[in-house]
Amino acid sequence: MEQFEYETKHIMELDKSMLNKAYDFCEDYKKFMKKCKTERECVDFFIDEAIKKGYKEYNKNTTKLESGNKYYYNNRGKAIALFTIGSEKIDKGINFSIAHIDSPRLDLKPNPMYENSEIAFLKTHYYGGIKKYQWVTIPLSLHGVIFLSNGKELKLNIGEKESDTQFVITDLLPHLSDEQNKRTLKDVIKGEELNVIIGSIPFVDKDILKEKNIKNFVKHKILYLLNEQYGINEKDFLRCEIEITPALNPSDIGFDRSMVGAYAQDDRVCAYPAFIAETECNNPSLTSMTVLTDKEEIGSEGNTGMVSNYVFDLFEDICDYYNIKARDVYKNSLCFSSDVNAAYDPTFADVFEERNASLLNHGVTICKYTGSRGKSGAQDASAETMNETIRILDESKVPFQVAELGKVDIGGGGTIAKFVSQRNIDTVDIGVPVLSMHSPFEITSKLDIYSTYLAYKALLRREKR
Ligand code: MN
Ligand code: MN
Repeated sequence: MEQFEYETKHIMELDKSMLNKAYDFCEDYKKFMKKCKTERECVDFFIDEAIKKGYKEYNKNTTKLESGNKYYYNNRGKAIALFTIGSEKIDKGINFSIAHIDSPRLDLKPNPMYENSEIAFLKTHYYGGIKKYQWVTIPLSLHGVIFLSNGKELKLNIGEKESDTQFVITDLLPHLSDEQNKRTLKDVIKGEELNVIIGSIPFVDKDILKEKNIKNFVKHKILYLLNEQYGINEKDFLRCEIEITPALNPSDIGFDRSMVGAYAQDDRVCAYPAFIAETECNNPSLTSMTVLTDKEEIGSEGNTGMVSNYVFDLFEDICDYYNIKARDVYKNSLCFSSDVNAAYDPTFADVFEERNASLLNHGVTICKYTGSRGKSGAQDASAETMNETIRILDESKVPFQVAELGKVDIGGGGTIAKFVSQRNIDTVDIGVPVLSMHSPFEITSKLDIYSTYLAYKALLRREKR
């Protein structure tokens, strides 16, 4: 009998053979998440892996584009585009898949180092939407690049290896928290209280420093160590991008190991499957392009974010090669704007509207529109785009659900989708549901991750009808 009603199901009810494949896929995913805590580390990883899979670096002036060949374009080590030339003429349209690889974190202030009461600290400036209280009393690591006075670039990654030292931000003991308890949740920990402890031993030969009129012996000892180990001087912090991230390892969650817990799953839980799907997309009919971009968490700003022209400039260069206008390609293209959605959390059920919430283990979530209140700032996928997306997923038997973030009046958010659709490209938001999104340890379901990977594979195989 024909099924009139529609409701989504737990993937185990639809296709239990997916379970082992999902668990296997997530072993590699966890390795990636352990290795890559920042956008720069992600790009380094993607380039290494892409080269192994036959990708060549694209050069506008010298690259001869050939059907079936794979290329990558590195934007400043912080964003990357990978593409595979299809057998169809490019003006038939292309399949875009775009995810972001920046995540909420703590950046260093430009003048970060100070000493207070014989403890040395780094002052931070948070990046993206964080709940500040979640960042205290957890082990932290330090990642990034710093330029030294000799002009050399130094890459830092401290706090991830077992033998490494780690860093931390303090919180007040409950015994003395009566006043702190009166603060609202937003200010339980204030931005200026996110100070990272980096040392407590003074420079003992104080006589030398006294001559130079130096008072901060602990800070001086840290600077001495940094100079000895890395050649860093305090002034070099003016020319660095150092990110403080949780030093937590990715892990299975639950007795059934059905979930993954890790920092920065928004949006690497989409970026990683998107990357794997791209590398496995061989000899496609339509050209595929997978972009793993930066700066989404602060509004896609800057030259490594989707506000920048870098993806579209690259695409115009490719189109120039074929003497075709990029805009004639865009209007025939489809883009999966791949970003996470809020998974329904029964502990905080109030903020969700059950019929339109993403359920854990019900598959990749299509988000027809983003935005806040009356769809302000939204990218709203048309019925035609939804039709095409659902056709692609149904034909490949990919479990999926369609949802929105939360109750209408509660809040909202945006993704990179609007920066793509404004180029006249049909775009739809799609990605993995996440529990505790933007926290230092986000939770996802392995089955959802696997169904997301299947969705990207199906998109990249899309043919023009
Ligand atoms: Mn995101
Ligand atoms: Mn986010």
